[in-house]
Amino acid sequence: MSWRGAESLMVLRSQIDRAYPNRSKISDGLIGNQAHAKTPSDHNPNQAGVVCAMDITNDPKNGFDAQVFVDLQRKNPHPNLKYMIFDKKIYSRLYGWNPRPSRGHESHVHVSVGVGADGHSRPAYDDRIDWMIKPDVPQVRYEVYEIKSSKLVKVQVQTGTNGSGYTDVKLPAGVEVSGQAWRGNGAKGLSVACEPVNGEVWRVAVDGAPGRNVISVNLTFSVI
Ligand SMILES: [Zn+2]
Repeated sequence: MSWRGAESLMVLRSQIDRAYPNRSKISDGLIGNQAHAKTPSDHNPNQAGVVCAMDITNDPKNGFDAQVFVDLQRKNPHPNLKYMIFDKKIYSRLYGWNPRPSRGHESHVHVSVGVGADGHSRPAYDDRIDWMIKPDVPQVRYEVYEIKSSKLVKVQVQTGTNGSGYTDVKLPAGVEVSGQAWRGNGAKGLSVACEPVNGEVWRVAVDGAPGRNVISVNLTFSVI
């Protein structure tokens, strides 16, 4: 049976790999082994063939400290995050990220995404937005959208704890923006700006109430 990992987890893994290239992967895992398959687990593919859990090795010596990761997510959780288990404690969205007793998981942190029971996670779990794995990175998002033919494009902009964020939109050669309309789905007082960065990249920046949000912006443009 074919399966894939949830997109949010793929982003998380690549962010951690990039940040800590020498980290140990000895306890990393994605799809469950045969033992997992006998019990409900997000390591088993859901009905759509998507694996919604990933284990990441705790290796503070080489940069990835699972407890630091857990504490950052508790304060500033990725929107797709369902729960984490590390060092005999589970931290769930359902319980306001407060630690509750669990078992094991001393060697790795278990990260589950989506909504619903173990092994039956439903979306959202495919959002490719920043996990903000370091406390010192700027609270903005940088992602390049390749726009092909559509004239109306919905762009997601993730704001950080300061309420600001941006997404860069890349246009194919020969296409110019001749007009934009935007509409935030979020907080009051939200301002949205769309400014050219260079010939083919436009920056969609939002500034709103403090707090981590995902703002949808509808961009319309004309192909000249
Ligand atoms: Zn696990």
